[in-house]
Amino acid sequence: MKLPSKSKPYIIPEYSLTGDLLSFLTCNLQYRYQNKGTLPPSKPVQRWFGEFIHGVMEEAYLEWDYKKTSFPWDWIDDIRPIEEQIDLRLQTRGLYPYDEDLFFSMSNHPEVEYLNEHDHKKLASARAEKAINIWGKHLFPLIDSSEHLIKGVRPMPNYDEHKSRSNYYGINGVVDVLTSMKINDLEQSNLDNFNNEIIAFLKKDPNFQKRIKEQDGEDYEIIIDYKGMKRPPTIVTNPKVEDKWETHKQQILTYSWLRSKQEDAKPIVAGIIFYLNELVPSKEDLVLIKEELKDELTDVGNEFEDDVKLIERWEEEDKAPELSDGFKISRSIRIINVDEEEQENALLMFDSVVDNIESSLIREMNGCKIQEAWKADSDERTCSACDFRTFCKNNSVKTKDIKIP
Ligand code: SF4
Repeated sequence: MKLPSKSKPYIIPEYSLTGDLLSFLTCNLQYRYQNKGTLPPSKPVQRWFGEFIHGVMEEAYLEWDYKKTSFPWDWIDDIRPIEEQIDLRLQTRGLYPYDEDLFFSMSNHPEVEYLNEHDHKKLASARAEKAINIWGKHLFPLIDSSEHLIKGVRPMPNYDEHKSRSNYYGINGVVDVLTSMKINDLEQSNLDNFNNEIIAFLKKDPNFQKRIKEQDGEDYEIIIDYKGMKRPPTIVTNPKVEDKWETHKQQILTYSWLRSKQEDAKPIVAGIIFYLNELVPSKEDLVLIKEELKDELTDVGNEFEDDVKLIERWEEEDKAPELSDGFKISRSIRIINVDEEEQENALLMFDSVVDNIESSLIREMNGCKIQEAWKADSDERTCSACDFRTFCKNNSVKTKDIKIP
């Protein structure tokens, strides 16, 4: 009797918006070693802070939802216990704050107070406190759901039945916050009763106003994402540097498409990104902000003349300038217009990233060496923090790294 052979399992490759799209665009080879080779970075500083601030905001919201503690929250009594809880949670996953780089001494920063030898309120805490007391206050009352998982399926780009791994691929992501509002609330300014800054920013945005007017129904949604980084420049002059301004927009637009496919979704009219480092910029952030203001590579800041003067006069060895709240708040919020055409472009861009990843994977599966199958190309800043720089073929980085004793 001839036994039938078991058919090959049908597997759809899954791609995540942050873990794959953003990571692959930073450097293809680094992505291969970290994600496909499951090698975590040895100094995941940026990752620690990103996860820390997301965790703090999520936990602070749950706490607020339960107790309705009024703002401002006290750092020692209300915020520090949340930070400790998130830090412990990250430690169980092997993520630790990198003391020198992340919790670096900010003794010359006006927003960082020193409490005692072991309980310094350093940079990460200063940002967490500002994020909760500045944005949490306005955001938490608008939240409909947080950490919302979204998934979808798309046809595999350039599908070839002999070469491709599957005829479809899956996209997944986690929306930090979904807010649900009623058009009447905005028109009748109901939410202005508590001076909601987020509503005030939305009302000033002409694209948002246009989108609202086009809506037939009463309810709509806004997707919100936190970023543990400064506002990226709107123009990138170095072709090796990833255009974060554009990729963040693509991320929100792809989220909005995925969300629109869920049964309970209401029309999504906008996305908001909070660049939380802007609330307490580090010295490194200030150097970049200074350059971007001078070269007009940023969309927000030059209208604040006093702040611009302070930044122009500031040198790296000086105390951080005392920037106005208006400057910091305006730079920390970005509204993304969600429309169908832009959404389609973002999906095509995601398709093309998946196509590139799949092509590199298939080359490697067919015997091509890793460094030939995946492109090694990134900016100097990324390379100098990369664990693979010593054997990466990006020679300019390798040579710079060799130190002669
Ligand atoms: S050293 Fe630079 S180019 Fe090489 S893998 Fe790391 S980030 Fe990529």
